[in-house]
Amino acid sequence: MGRPRIVVVEGDITVQPVDAVVNAANEHLAGGGGVDGAIHRAAGAAELHAACAALGGCPPGDAKATPGFRLPARWIIHTVGPRWRGGGRGEREVLASCYRRSLAVAEELGARSIAFPAIATGAYGYPPEEAAEVAVGTLLTTLSRLEEIRLVAFDRATADRYRRLLTRSPRPPEAGGQPGR
Ligand code: ADP
Repeated sequence: MGRPRIVVVEGDITVQPVDAVVNAANEHLAGGGGVDGAIHRAAGAAELHAACAALGGCPPGDAKATPGFRLPARWIIHTVGPRWRGGGRGEREVLASCYRRSLAVAEELGARSIAFPAIATGAYGYPPEEAAEVAVGTLLTTLSRLEEIRLVAFDRATADRYRRLLTRSPRPPEAGGQPGR
């Protein structure tokens, strides 16, 4: 177990050359808009829809895998973010769980690299700054056998947020990073 390298990429998650891409899905795993729609279109909507239907849905905070079909990625890990309802309904814990469970599923599959979108920051309404803090904070503190984690930002502001948070959050000294001030 170790601490994977975290890389920020601005772009489209469907073209990332990683072993697993994470999809910000809904509880029915039925496909939808945003990144979910892009992943379904790029992977092959009919095949992915059938594979998702066989999973029987997914509760918020959990993650389930399908093949990647026509994506460069071998697997798609579908996770369901929290719907933002003001922040007092456990949203933070559910979002952190999305990142942790996705990493765990990727490890079980034997993936060495994974790409995450900004889960819950679109239709689910999670404030982007807080969501980036949860994403970076959770990924920096979760041990894993993965080698590389890509944080895929669909826009410049999201990429800047990730970069700022990663610069401000030095890795713990035992991981070989710079000690904090
Ligand atoms: P949710 O329902 O979890 O809020 P959305 O798909 O609505 O999910 O939005 C999540 C994030 O994914 C948003 O920040 C959106 O800009 C981003 N996004 C949309 N399409 C893509 C894509 N093709 N690649 C990467 N990120 C994307």
